[in-house]
Amino acid sequence: MAKKGRVFSGIRPTGRAHLGNYLGAIKNYVALQDNYDCVYCIVDIHALTTVEDTLNLKQNTHEMTLDLLAAGIRPEETILFVQSHVPQVTELHTILSMVTPLGKLTDLPTFKDMVRQHPNNVNYGLVGYPVLMTADIVLYKSDLVPVGVDQAPHLEFARETVRSFNHRYQTKVLIEPQMKSAEVPKVLGIDGKEKMSKSLDNHIELAATPEETRQRVMQMVTDPQRIKRSDPGNPDVCNVFTLHKVFTPKEDVEMINVECRKAGIGCVDCKKRFAENLNIALEPFRAKRAELAAKPDLVAATLNDGARRARAIAEKTMEEVRAAVQLP
Ligand code: SF4
Repeated sequence: MAKKGRVFSGIRPTGRAHLGNYLGAIKNYVALQDNYDCVYCIVDIHALTTVEDTLNLKQNTHEMTLDLLAAGIRPEETILFVQSHVPQVTELHTILSMVTPLGKLTDLPTFKDMVRQHPNNVNYGLVGYPVLMTADIVLYKSDLVPVGVDQAPHLEFARETVRSFNHRYQTKVLIEPQMKSAEVPKVLGIDGKEKMSKSLDNHIELAATPEETRQRVMQMVTDPQRIKRSDPGNPDVCNVFTLHKVFTPKEDVEMINVECRKAGIGCVDCKKRFAENLNIALEPFRAKRAELAAKPDLVAATLNDGARRARAIAEKTMEEVRAAVQLP
C-alpha cells in the first residue's frame, strides 16, 4: 500500500524508556509505520544542551534503541538512526540560524522554561535548540511531525523558519512541515502528581523486571481522598485507574470503576491487579528486548544502516540548500 507521506520525530537518549515515554511517544511511533514512511532519530546532539556529563550518553542511546526496536519499530522499513551520525544536520542548523532573529528564540516560552530549569547552564546551544530541531525536520523533507498541543509552537517556529529561508533565497527547496496532531496523554508518575519522569524518580521502566514493576506499582498514589479501605474511592482522579484503562481488559476496568466507588475493591488489590496486567502486557516487549540485548553488534548495524539511509536523503537536501544559498 502506498504510504501517505514522510513522518519525522526525534526522541532523546534518556536511557531505558518508561511508561510515559511509551504512551506519550513510542506507541504512536509504532502505529504510524503502517501508513507513513517514518524517520525516527535519537537526538544525542540535542541532549548535549542540558547534559553536562556525557559519560552515559552512548549507553543511554543503546538502551533507547533497544526499547524502540523491542516496542515494534521496524528498521527494515523505518529509518532509525542517531542524530550525530548525520553531520549534515549541523550544517543546516548553521545556515538556518542566519535567517532566525535571536529575539524570536529568546522569547519562546520553552527557552524561558529551560533557563529556569538550568540556570547555571544557559549555553548558546540551548538558545538555538529550536533551529536544530527545525534542521532535523526539514533535512529529511518531512511532511508531518507528530506533536502534542504543547509542542505546537515549536512546529510553528519550524514552519516560519522554512518560510524565511525560502523567501530569503527565493527557493522552494525546504518543505513546510505540517503538524500531525497526536493525542499525547499526560502520563503521571507513581506520585500521582507530576508527569512521569526519570529526573523525578517517579517512573516505571518498560524493561524493569516483573518484581521491580510490582514494587513500583504498589508505591503508586491513588485517590488522595480515600484514606481507609472502607472509604469509597473515585477512579476519575486516580492514576492507577487511568493506567488500568490502557493495560487491563475492558470488563475488569468496568468492574473496578463500579466497585471502587462503593469500596467493593481496595487499592492494594486494585494495584496488584494492575501490576499483573502490566507485566502480562510487557512480556513480549521484554522477551524481544532481551533477545536484542544479547546481540549488540546487530543493534549497532541497525543504527549504522539507518544513518546510511538518512545521510543519503540529507546530502541530497544539502546539495539543494547549498545551491540555493549560492555557497561557492
Ligand atoms: Fe484507584 Fe483502584 Fe484505589 Fe479505586 S480502588 S482509588 S481505582 S487504586
